[in-house]
Amino acid sequence: LVRWDNSLGVTDPIYPVYIDSNVMCGRAGVLENGKWSNVTYMPCMETNDFVPQIPDHRVDMIYLCYPNNPTGTVITKEELKKWVNYALKNDTLILYDAAYEAYITEPHIPHSIYEIKGARKVAIEFHSYSKTAGFTGVRCGYTVIPKELTAVTIDGKERIALNTLWFRRQCTKFNGTSYISQRAAEAIYSPDGKEQTKAVIDYYMGNARLMYDALKKLGFRVYGGVNAPYLWVKTPDGVDSWKFFEQLLYGAQIVCTPGVGFGPSGEGFVRFTSFGEREDCEEAMQRLAKWMKS
Ligand SMILES: *Cc1c(COP(=O)(O)O)cnc(C)c1O
Repeated sequence: LVRWDNSLGVTDPIYPVYIDSNVMCGRAGVLENGKWSNVTYMPCMETNDFVPQIPDHRVDMIYLCYPNNPTGTVITKEELKKWVNYALKNDTLILYDAAYEAYITEPHIPHSIYEIKGARKVAIEFHSYSKTAGFTGVRCGYTVIPKELTAVTIDGKERIALNTLWFRRQCTKFNGTSYISQRAAEAIYSPDGKEQTKAVIDYYMGNARLMYDALKKLGFRVYGGVNAPYLWVKTPDGVDSWKFFEQLLYGAQIVCTPGVGFGPSGEGFVRFTSFGEREDCEEAMQRLAKWMKS
């Protein structure tokens, strides 16, 4: 839908697909010191409470993901409003990934960017069923492209509705989701489906709570895990992400994800996931406690 040379902005650390897909179509520029030249990185770190700063220049497209993978942090309505206003002012397209929307537990956190006035003019929103209903293998989700959303042509003379372009693109290159997958997706919204998916999400969030409490008790600095299935954990003693990953793997037989794999600002963190069995989470925390003691 957009040109190969449009610039983009991402929060850092971030879901690597946003970068990789742009690298593949040649939009990211060249790699210099671990960063792509046509990408604006907006650091989310302890020092700014994981709240990204709005760029001081114009960017064509911005990816936002809330609740966030990997940090597990969320955005308030007030902060989200700033992004929508930036996009309206600068004619920026926001790509809003709400993959973990169903994991929000706190009442004041926005579930959709369209809760913000004006967002329908500037934002595309993605909803994967992968995390909501365990569709990682089934492959289904949906994309919202409001009819009001337009983008300007390169000569600046015309505004084009992205919904029309998207429809044309889907009919040519995709042709639709298989009937059986659609029926499975439909079932998520049935009374039984709602209850069952909620029960599974509650189970995972129970894992998150369990690990959050255990890690805190062991003295770790822990973020996320309240409105998201991920815990973003600061490594002890300034050890780098990969070193701590190795220590946990060989010392405690625990697997986590090195934070630096999500971008330069992820250095010094690891990500723990709550997508597992309760017993395994308990065992992992016991192993960790034992390893820390030794
Ligand atoms: C898992 C995940 C998705 C979903 O990807 P699918 O291709 O739909 O399985 C989207 N965004 C983020 C941030 C994710 O972590």
